[in-house]
Amino acid sequence: MRFELTGCFRTSANVDHAVDDITGFFRDEASKLLSKGVPQGRGALVEKIWCEGQSICFKLVSDRYLRAHDGVLRLRRPLARLLGKRHRIGIRRVEVRDYVIRFPAKRPLKRLKIPYVKDIEYMDGELVLTLNVSEAEIERRVPDRIVSLVEDKLAMDEYGGKSEHWKLLWESEKREEKKMLDPTQQLVEAKWIKHGASRGQWIYGPEITKLFRVFEEIVIDEIITPLGYSEMIFPKLVTWEVWKHSGHAKGVYPEIYYVCPPKTRDPEFWEEVIDHYKVTLEVPIDLIAEKIGKPIGGMCYAQCPPFWMFLKGETIADESLPFRVFDRSGTSHRYESGGIHGIERLDEFHRIELVWCGSVEEVLKDSEELQERYKKIFTDLLELEWRMAWVTPWFMAQEGLTGLAEEREVGTIDYEAIMPYRNEWLEFQNLSVNGDKYPKGFNVKSQSGKPLWSGCSGIGLERWASVFLAQKGLEIDEWPPAVRKRYGKRPKGIKFL
Ligand code: ATP
Ligand code: ZN
Ligand code: MG
Repeated sequence: MRFELTGCFRTSANVDHAVDDITGFFRDEASKLLSKGVPQGRGALVEKIWCEGQSICFKLVSDRYLRAHDGVLRLRRPLARLLGKRHRIGIRRVEVRDYVIRFPAKRPLKRLKIPYVKDIEYMDGELVLTLNVSEAEIERRVPDRIVSLVEDKLAMDEYGGKSEHWKLLWESEKREEKKMLDPTQQLVEAKWIKHGASRGQWIYGPEITKLFRVFEEIVIDEIITPLGYSEMIFPKLVTWEVWKHSGHAKGVYPEIYYVCPPKTRDPEFWEEVIDHYKVTLEVPIDLIAEKIGKPIGGMCYAQCPPFWMFLKGETIADESLPFRVFDRSGTSHRYESGGIHGIERLDEFHRIELVWCGSVEEVLKDSEELQERYKKIFTDLLELEWRMAWVTPWFMAQEGLTGLAEEREVGTIDYEAIMPYRNEWLEFQNLSVNGDKYPKGFNVKSQSGKPLWSGCSGIGLERWASVFLAQKGLEIDEWPPAVRKRYGKRPKGIKFL
């Protein structure tokens, strides 16, 4: 890491007649000041000085041992003392003209807007930050916090966003007879779905809803019943408390649908809003914004975290371990980024979430068992072209648990299927062994005192439908027998004129 700071000490008077003293100071005293407490050959160095009227200009370069801006602060007072004593000149302020910090980096950082950073460039294996700071920011240690922030981001980048940390585990055979159709477009044309009033939201007609239920039935027959999962109902409004325990509070903000309660339920408090609507037929959202409280949390994001409040602080009886539960009681909501792909990427979607918990061995065994059963479902029943990939769960990256990346035990498997119409793979569900993260996060113990682990698997119904319909099309007669048999007759939809 290299710091290059060009700036000047602005003085109270012209320094022309003090040049000799100034040069002497930088030659002798400055290097002593800058090397104090710094390993030999390290730290900051004055590369250049020159005087310009009421400015003593310098270029300081350094490594991380004594950062250039700290060097400037170290020099300021002794230099001021010298100028004051010999020439009655004071230093008014420090002016930073140019401050560049270079980080070694394997690749550029994306889309960053950092306060006091004018520019970030990537050149020849280096990330080059140009700062826009004044003396005040230097004194407030802003450059140091920028350095930490960027180092964290580089470390996180190194560790891998999902797509970068991706390793193929297994791939099904190719299937030749695939369709080339966009599933959403087919569904819209067939009027099986219609846009909901909200962003990334659809209304599912009887025909597709029946297909979702077929998928659920398959999950029940092949997984829930044979493996003994019990149904529960998990909350769908999730508070900050839950997300603090689960770790989501460290990063989920851009994707949350926030929930704000009214400041009071007193009808009088709301009368103005009601009257406004009745008269103008417009909902006064600015007025409403004044009358609601701060967000208490958001809508269901990852499905299993709010379940853990059921166990929070408890010791689970040995006879109840391992336990296996699932939820299919409601929607998940995410504020997805711009390119919402029909029903492939939604703001409101439906999942079955499996959660299992027990000893390390039990949790790993359940994971293997699930993997086997999923394999049968996707290959033999849905007859998909699909694959499994080992990816690192984002929550770990956020906590800097890099060591687990290479471990084959704690982590996430993404299930992906090819979308022939756009020749890309789509994740349609996942399976995670979360290690002790949740029991620890929610302070859950086992009666035996043995470490508790857990796992979860999110089965996305719209994603299953997307990959299934993309590969198989909408003709029920052409569907694989396992699906066709369960689906039976096409339900009566609603016709439009
Ligand atoms: P993606 O990378 O596609 O955004 P994700 O990694 O955010 O997916 P997870 O957080 O792992 O997804 O959620 C588990 C499952 O929930 C996914 O495999 C998928 O089936 C479903 N899912 C997640 N986000 C959406 C969405 N926006 N629309 C529909 N289903 C989704
Ligand atoms: Zn989960
Ligand atoms: Mg996502």
